[in-house]
Amino acid sequence: MPSTSTHKNKNKVVSEESETSVDESDVSGSEGEYVSWVSWFCNLKGHEFFCEVDDDYIQDEFNLCGLSSKVPYYDYALDLILDVESSHGDKLNEEQNSLVESAAEMLYGLIHARYILTSKGMSAMMEKYKNVEFGSCPRTFCSEQPCLPVGQSDIPRSSYVRIYCPQCEDIYLPRTRYQYAIDGAYFGTTFPHLFLMTYNHLKPQRDTRSYVPKVFGFKVHKP
Ligand SMILES: [Zn+2]
Repeated sequence: MPSTSTHKNKNKVVSEESETSVDESDVSGSEGEYVSWVSWFCNLKGHEFFCEVDDDYIQDEFNLCGLSSKVPYYDYALDLILDVESSHGDKLNEEQNSLVESAAEMLYGLIHARYILTSKGMSAMMEKYKNVEFGSCPRTFCSEQPCLPVGQSDIPRSSYVRIYCPQCEDIYLPRTRYQYAIDGAYFGTTFPHLFLMTYNHLKPQRDTRSYVPKVFGFKVHKP
């Protein structure tokens, strides 16, 4: 049963507390407005690359196959993501609750990596790409080509998210430092490439120009 109170209360606590969690509490919506865990999570500072995964997708056990062995406190984490009142919630102490919260982040990230490879997920990411929400290529010759998020590994805790430029086919640091530390496995190694295969018309011509160093107008010759 969807909860009407748990997450809303949690958000209120987060936003009324604390200087410490101010970076994490960029919750949209006015006081009293219900915000789902997924919306709340995707609106945190640094989480701009995440799209909102459909509830239907998360509720289909088939889509979550194999994740229960990768994520600690799996059942609790899933309840949290789906805003379901956990039947065991009261038994957890504060420390365990914070473990569940970080497990929920990891679980959502891993679900997200799968979701963005589906057609629904890809079209959600397409909206963000069109709005250049993943940032653009810092390379001058790429003329602000919009980029796509990519992980250098599909294994959690082993890489950070980077942005991939379809024009020079290289990867770069995201625009803000809040985005630097997002796990690359939450986007995966496949996403931008499958995206560009799917939306073939978006793939720009590869740019091979390169910068030529000059001294007094003459090319610098290598010895
Ligand atoms: Zn580029």
